[in-house]
Amino acid sequence: MSLDRRHFLTAAGASAATLLTGCASGAGTGGKAAALPFFIGQPAQTLLAKGKAPRVVVCGGGWGGLTTAKYLRQLAPSAEVVLLERNPVFFSCPISNKWLVDMVDTSFITHDYLRVSERHGYRFIQTEVLEVDRSAKRVVTTLGSLDYDYLVLAPGIRYNYEAWFGNDRRIADATRARFPAAYITNNEHFALKQALHNFKGGDWVMTLPPPPQRCPPSPYERACMVAWYFKHNKIKGKVTILDHKDGVRPIGPGFRAAFNELYKDYITYVPNAHVQSIDPFKKEIKTDAGDMNFDHAVLMAPHQAGDLAWKADTIGRTGEGKPSGWADVDPLMLHLKGDPNVYVIGDAVGFVSPQFAFYPKSAHVANKHGHIVAGYIAERIAGRSPKTNLPDNLCYMMVNGDPREAISVQFDYKVNDKGVIEQTQIDINQRSGDLVKENFRWAGLKFEDMFG
Ligand SMILES: Cc1cc2nc3c(=O)[nH]c(=O)nc-3n(C[C@H](O)[C@H](O)[C@H](O)COP(=O)(O)OP(=O)(O)OC[C@H]3O[C@@H](n4cnc5c(N)ncnc54)[C@H](O)[C@@H]3O)c2cc1C
Repeated sequence: MSLDRRHFLTAAGASAATLLTGCASGAGTGGKAAALPFFIGQPAQTLLAKGKAPRVVVCGGGWGGLTTAKYLRQLAPSAEVVLLERNPVFFSCPISNKWLVDMVDTSFITHDYLRVSERHGYRFIQTEVLEVDRSAKRVVTTLGSLDYDYLVLAPGIRYNYEAWFGNDRRIADATRARFPAAYITNNEHFALKQALHNFKGGDWVMTLPPPPQRCPPSPYERACMVAWYFKHNKIKGKVTILDHKDGVRPIGPGFRAAFNELYKDYITYVPNAHVQSIDPFKKEIKTDAGDMNFDHAVLMAPHQAGDLAWKADTIGRTGEGKPSGWADVDPLMLHLKGDPNVYVIGDAVGFVSPQFAFYPKSAHVANKHGHIVAGYIAERIAGRSPKTNLPDNLCYMMVNGDPREAISVQFDYKVNDKGVIEQTQIDINQRSGDLVKENFRWAGLKFEDMFG
């Protein structure tokens, strides 16, 4: 890569990353007079007084929350819909592995919140949700509090660094800052892109979290894209995948064929590599499958439902009485068990079936959940009982950049005669250019569905 291009990347990355982390308080203006924010609020004051219309508050403007807000306005025009989101712009994790290696522009995967909210008549407020008081039916944000009739929680995931480091915040923060996972929408994606583009060669390590995790096939896609980038740019780098699982899943044969046939000299796959310890300062990882030093790493701590799901007291219990890490919802209707006015959707959803345990934590499912829950709430506002509706899932994973080729996986769901959700899965392991076209078509249609 030429020097000029590197500088351009730094500048572009920095400005988009600033947008993503930009805060409503207007702080951090580097000594210049701070621009006053549009609205100065505080948690103790009322953010929006509630009128007579039924109010639905949607927390989290990712794939699930955005879809819910738009379709609620269409299906329940009498409802007041408020979407609360901490980020000022939407950044898509799907397609981001291709963006990492410059196959797509930032503009394809970033979208504007305000414009779409104005077009569809819901209110978008950029704010951090601090608390949910379910007994008072009230949400508290940094800008003030607001009451709800129905609440939809779509907070995505959080990283469980405590599983690695206990209460040692210093080491957890250092790990996240130096070797970010880039699995949550924030400036970590830009830090990772920068690290890749500055990488001079050596050992690039990825730790994969145990299931349930956000988008299980996407770390393998990322490994392929990084290996392709090394190969394409003649960088003497090796990608080592330290997988918690005992094998590549889903689309295992397709990914393994890519590792062996396209990246034999670039990718080493290590199964059963349960992390024992990590030292981000010495760049050292110890696992059940062996120890490693690295030059750069993508350190993915285990995943759990986003903080907000914990603050709203939605987390279920395991058989031993410990927190399950995921929201305890009615599998068919997606509302919280014991609180029918609070719905949880997307990645934060917990156990739904004894056959397959969790829905795939994917954007496709979160988007479908948004449609489904908008329909459920609209039916209830109209005084009817909603009928069960289930999602499907579809994921395309690019494995080759030259020529561009992808593989894919599809899931379908039905309720059996015992009332249990059953899953069927179809893996397409044969990589092809047609699946790349389908992937971009899928992304375009989904962006249109949420932002059109
Ligand atoms: C690299 C990568 C590739 C992927 N590829 C695919 C793919 O090809 N196909 C696919 O289907 N899925 C893919 N996924 C998975 C997909 O991104 C997630 O499953 C999807 O984003 C889940 O949607 P969600 O609405 O549950 O959560 P999110 O989209 O994460 O949305 C949660 C939102 O809540 C906001 N939020 C959280 N807490 C608060 C708070 N306290 N206050 C205010 N706002 C808050 C967050 O800022 C965020 O915007 C991929 C993920 C990654 C990381």
